[in-house]
Amino acid sequence: MSDPLIIVGSGMAGLGLARQVRARDARRAITLITADSGDDYSKPLLSTGFAKGMPPERLAMRSPIDVAEALQITMRTHTRVDAIDHRTRTLAIGAENLPYGDLVLATGAAPSAPFTVADEVRDRVFTINDLDDYRRFQAALSRHGAAARVAIVGAGLVGCEFADDLLAGGHRVALVAPEQTPLARLLPPPLGQVLGTALGKAGADLRLGRSLAHLRRDDEAVSLVLDDGEVLSADLVLIATGLSPRTALADTAGLAVSEAGIQTDRYLATAQPDIHALGDCACVAGLNAMYVQPLQASAKALAATLTGTPTPVAYGAWPVLVKTPSCPVVALPPHQAPARWRIEGEGDDLSALAEDENGHLQGFALTGACVRRKVELARVAPPLLP
Ligand code: FAD
Repeated sequence: MSDPLIIVGSGMAGLGLARQVRARDARRAITLITADSGDDYSKPLLSTGFAKGMPPERLAMRSPIDVAEALQITMRTHTRVDAIDHRTRTLAIGAENLPYGDLVLATGAAPSAPFTVADEVRDRVFTINDLDDYRRFQAALSRHGAAARVAIVGAGLVGCEFADDLLAGGHRVALVAPEQTPLARLLPPPLGQVLGTALGKAGADLRLGRSLAHLRRDDEAVSLVLDDGEVLSADLVLIATGLSPRTALADTAGLAVSEAGIQTDRYLATAQPDIHALGDCACVAGLNAMYVQPLQASAKALAATLTGTPTPVAYGAWPVLVKTPSCPVVALPPHQAPARWRIEGEGDDLSALAEDENGHLQGFALTGACVRRKVELARVAPPLLP
């Protein structure tokens, strides 16, 4: 029997690919290896779970045993792949050398923080980037009663979504970020302001335009010392300062990687024959989109390629729907800084149209009732990857 297709990573990219390959080829041997629990879950739901008091078991849609049985694949959970030897076409897992036929890297992205966390506060400082993280944070929250004080550092998509969700779950939230308005990479300032006001009305204590200088332990609490000298006290700290593609494994095979991820072409192929990459770890033809629709399109295209029909991936004009019920937000960020943002609407209901010098739509951002324009605008906006 030929060596299997090995997929490293059981997130939405790795599992999505396994499903697509199995749908096209009932017999191909597939092994999925993952460093985590291997539960099949929807990562976007992590930032909606605290409002509903959702236990982690309910977020896991299927156990790895059920996934393996349904797809007729081999699942190896809590197993970290240490290195790739592309000459012998083997993976190193501890002392074991495992041969592969085709190899797909779906190793995702890891939280990154621009500061180190001292040991004295480590048990109070969290990131939430997978179901295991959610499980740990929820256990810590429940130890602090119904209205825990949570300081969130970072006001990007993940920080804003968790802020809104934790507030809706009855917790007290402070949001600290160096930008003057939330979601600064997706929203021009007037729309960021609308979101900031809505989060404030929902109860968030906003500390924008301020950076975290350091964290220190104060009895049973954590003190966040900000760069202007102000000190905030919290029971728990959630770090949401961004994600970096996990490229270390690709590095061991000498594949081309950058801060944006493992470099692939439109076929999700790396420079090494038989090694592909997709999802948050992959920079596809110069773009790492880091959200679900692009990885689903990648899984579909790559499954076709791996089963004998070479298929390049294309991404449409797919806006991001930000899950902040206090203030609905939709955004399709432009590829490059626009010549101008044309802002329309009033109050909380704003549309910001990113235009080039000829007035052509390059992207958009919408708040409040204007989010209903997303379909109409996405139809005329340029695709992410034509
Ligand atoms: P991951 O889910 O990170 O999976 C990576 C896998 O690789 C894991 O199984 C890990 O264990 C494994 N792994 C890594 N290294 C190794 C190794 N060396 N050996 C073995 N296994 C390894 N996107 C949207 O489109 N809409 C949303 O509303 C949305 N909301 C989000 C909310 C939150 C809180 C977060 C964090 C993200 C959200 N996203 C959203 C982004 C989206 O969830 C991600 O783009 C997507 O889940 C990434 O999937 P992935 O499979 O590429 O990576």
